[in-house]
Order: sequence, then C-alpha cells, then structure tokens
Amino acid sequence: HVKARGKDGYRFYSDSMSINTANRLSLERDLRLALERDELRVFYQPQVCSKSNQVVGLEALVRWQHPERGLIYPGDFLPLAEETRLIGKLSERVLDQACRDVGHWINSGHPNLRLAVNLSPSQVEHPRFVETLLEQVQSHRFPVGNLEIEITENVIMNDLEQISRKLKELADCGVRIAIDDFGTGYSSLNYLHRLPIHTLKVDQSFVRAIRSGEDGACIVNAIVAMAHGLKLEIVAEGVETDDQLNYLTSLGCHQVQGFFYGPARPAADIDRLLSRDGLAFAHTG
Ligand code: C2E
Ligand code: MG
Ligand code: MG
Ligand code: MG
Repeated sequence: HVKARGKDGYRFYSDSMSINTANRLSLERDLRLALERDELRVFYQPQVCSKSNQVVGLEALVRWQHPERGLIYPGDFLPLAEETRLIGKLSERVLDQACRDVGHWINSGHPNLRLAVNLSPSQVEHPRFVETLLEQVQSHRFPVGNLEIEITENVIMNDLEQISRKLKELADCGVRIAIDDFGTGYSSLNYLHRLPIHTLKVDQSFVRAIRSGEDGACIVNAIVAMAHGLKLEIVAEGVETDDQLNYLTSLGCHQVQGFFYGPARPAADIDRLLSRDGLAFAHTG
C-alpha cells in the first residue's frame, strides 16, 4: 500500500483502488448494503505454538461474501471503507462477531485461547477509541485478557503521545498489544521502550526471505534476538514451508501463523479443529 497523508488523516490507496469510478461507486453502494444485509464474514487463522504445535490464538480476518462477486478479501474493500468512513461500522461488526465466536470457544474448554484483531488507523485515532473498545468487549463478557489488538508502526508514529496514552490505558485493563507487519513501517525503535507492547509480528516478507541464501535470514535473526532481549513474544507471519517453520523454531520464535498450518477459515471449520483433538493441531496439507 502506498500511504499519503490526507487532510483528515491517513488515506490508503492500493492497486485495487485504480478500478474505474463507476465500479468504485457501485462498490461503495454495495459496501453500504453489505452492512445492512450482513454480508461480512469473520474468518480465523490459527496462531500455533512452534514448540507444542498447539493453537494458542486466532487472528480474525474479515471477508465480504458478495452476492455476485463472491468472496472479496480485505485488500479490495478496506481502503474504500476507510475512505468512506464505513470502517467504523465494519470494525464494530467484526469485533462483535469475533467476541461471540472466540468467547464461545474460550467458554467451551479453551480458556487461554487468544483473539487477535486488526485495528484500522481511524479506529485508533478516534478520541473515544479506548472506551468504545472496552465497552464493546465487555458487553459480550469477553475476557479482556484474551484479547490482543494488532496495530502497525505507522499508526503509532502518526501520533506517538496520544497512542501511547491510549495503549497504556488498554494494557492496564489487561488487553495485549501486538505490532503487526513489524519492520515494514515508518518507525523508530525507540517506541518499543515507551509503549506497553507484548508481541511483535514479524512481517511475512522477512519470513519469505529466509530461504533466499545466506543473508536472507538476517532480518528475521535480528528481530527475534531483539524481541528476546526485550522479553516480547514473537509471532512469525506467512509461514508456508517446513524449512521456514524449522528455522523459526530453532531461532526461538514462539508462534507461527501461515498457510503451512492453514489459511483463515470460517468459524465452523475452527469449531471442528478445536473440538476434534483439543488444541493439538493436525496438519492436513
Ligand atoms: P495482516 O493483519 O498482516 O494479516 C495477514 C494477511 O496475510 C492476511 O491477509 C492473511 O490471510 C495472509 N496470510 C496468512 N498466512 C499467509 C501465508 O502463509 N502466505 C501468504 N502469502 N499470506 C498469508 P488478508 O486476510 O487478505 O488481510 C490483509 C490485511 O487486511 C491484514 O493484514 C490486515 O492488515 C487487514 N485486515 C484484515 N481483516 C481486518 C479487520 O477486520 N480489520 C482491519 N482494520 N483490518 C483487517
Ligand atoms: Mg494482523
Ligand atoms: Mg501482518
Ligand atoms: Mg498487513
């Protein structure tokens, strides 16, 4: 994504946004309808402990089940949602659904299961962000200690003082904080000391680089070493191969997430996965 600073904050543009105006208008209309007709779906991707092979968390990833266009991925509608300010309603729906689904699994034998949710820039920048989030989560009686919010470095750097205050409030209430796509943003490592961060998510581009020769793994090595030093948890994203998994495990990367274990799936699939053999994860290829 190319990010440009608009007068009212960050705006997101991607290749998919270069679709023509007519298409775009119809997409915008459809997105409003999608909220009315309840066409958004929350899929879950397992976060697996690299040592025990147990599912320790689930990342909620939104999809849009469009009546004509089929399943649409967030890269193709989140930028528009952010621009048209439909993102607020959309985020609320995703969190409601995720609290219901994961809350149910937590209460049916998986008390430590973590829910990871992605937050949009405008959501975090909203003055009532902290109260809104806590009220929403508590309205579902979802245990706040099982919630991890994922934010990117760009969101943090955009207004370090405000964000710092908000994250401290959330952390004091027990919410965990993860930095998503770590290492790809515009940032300063300085914030790692100043903010109550629990988890670094190593971006998939660094994981992909592991296989490409000697220095490919340099950045992953450095990030994991730093996370160990700072006593942060590390989740590697986009793990697709045996070799990547083995390498990351040998480095001491705590959790992995990626197509190796499976893509994000609908709640019904996760339900089966969790009830089949406890939290042990059977790799089905
Ligand atoms: P992210 O949070 O960094 O999520 C990781 C993305 O990588 C997901 O794409 C996931 O499906 C994909 N992925 C997982 N494992 C692999 C792998 O092994 N290989 C490859 N190539 N990709 C893998 P997805 O679901 O299309 O989401 C894209 C981005 O959209 C997310 O990146 C996140 O920033 C955003 N997003 C998704 N759901 C939400 C949401 O509910 N709210 C907000 N605000 N943003 C969301
Ligand atoms: Mg994420
Ligand atoms: Mg990521
Ligand atoms: Mg991302």
